[in-house]
Amino acid sequence: AQWTPADDRYQTMTYNRCGRSGLKLPAVSLGLWHNFGEDMPHRTKRAICRKAFDLGITHFDLANNYGPPPGAAETAFGEILRTDFAGYRDEMVISTKAGYGMWPGPYGEWSSRKYLLSSLDQSLKRLGLDYVDIFYSHRFDPETPLEETMGALDQAVRSGKALYAGLSSYNSQRTREAAAILKDLGTPCLIHQPSYSMINRWVEEDGLLDTVSDLGIGTIVFSPLAPGMLTSKYLGGIPEDSRAAQGKSLRPSFLNERTIENIRALDTIAKRRSQTLAQMAIAWVLRAQGSGGRVTTALIGASRPEQVEDSVGALKNPHFSAEELAEIDQYARE
Ligand code: NDP
Repeated sequence: AQWTPADDRYQTMTYNRCGRSGLKLPAVSLGLWHNFGEDMPHRTKRAICRKAFDLGITHFDLANNYGPPPGAAETAFGEILRTDFAGYRDEMVISTKAGYGMWPGPYGEWSSRKYLLSSLDQSLKRLGLDYVDIFYSHRFDPETPLEETMGALDQAVRSGKALYAGLSSYNSQRTREAAAILKDLGTPCLIHQPSYSMINRWVEEDGLLDTVSDLGIGTIVFSPLAPGMLTSKYLGGIPEDSRAAQGKSLRPSFLNERTIENIRALDTIAKRRSQTLAQMAIAWVLRAQGSGGRVTTALIGASRPEQVEDSVGALKNPHFSAEELAEIDQYARE
């Protein structure tokens, strides 16, 4: 029988306006980078997506190269869109990106117009969609004129293959330049996607958070859990089914004794707040909301549906006292 999403799916999620745009995004968004490749059972991917949508997560984040192999996450999600989400497209915000290596030869990576626009066509085919909601330049390309890259994003929007344009991992300076070009072209930059967590604060140091709020661009921050380090899962060793054990973007060597000590201290603070450490880490990136909030949404990954549920629970206790923030600063170090 056809799956139907929960009736109460819009009851508890918070939706934040994305910069100075008309679009609202859920405070927690789901990314499909690591757990949607051919190395994961399809039923798990389906269960994760269903759980997310049931909890009010309307935003699903992809890229051309997510897999393995590259492209597999879009293919899997395209299948789930057909089997489970048919009829719900207008309730969903689906994004994809281009920037990293996709196919052999000089036109298969970086940020030429040639690469970006053919990659978007390939993504749409894999997803089985006529358009994505957000199309990103996945990384700054030092060898391609920014005018060309931004021109390709503008073209994607004008041709109806994307509704909005976004930038990922551009620094503050490049973001200003890119946003100015996009504005001139008449396709304002909707959103910026940088990494950010209690132990990775480059967006504060670089001034990027100030820049995007100045420019009225929304922010979606990836890896708020420092791919699992900011959870309690590594406190008793490295579980076999964890990302560290599989060597996926989290090297076991990061988990040295000092790091574990710090994570344990953070875990104690989280417990005092009646949260899991994962929940506190997500609430922390979203903390400025309400008091001049700068982060629109926390972009999480999950290897099972229970993690999505736990992570969304972060929204139950979003407030931090000045003392708590200072205490976290003491231990939130790599
Ligand atoms: P996270 O920091 O959210 O890490 C996710 C991992 O943490 C999961 O795979 C899982 O690891 C573990 N985890 C998640 N929830 C919990 C929980 N509640 N309790 C315990 N463990 C948990 O983010 P990711 O690094 O996965 O990135 C999220 C998304 O951001 C990506 O899918 C992608 O869409 C985007 N991204 C974008 C990039 C860019 O360049 N623009 C780069 C990187 C990511 P385990 O597998 O061990 O269970």
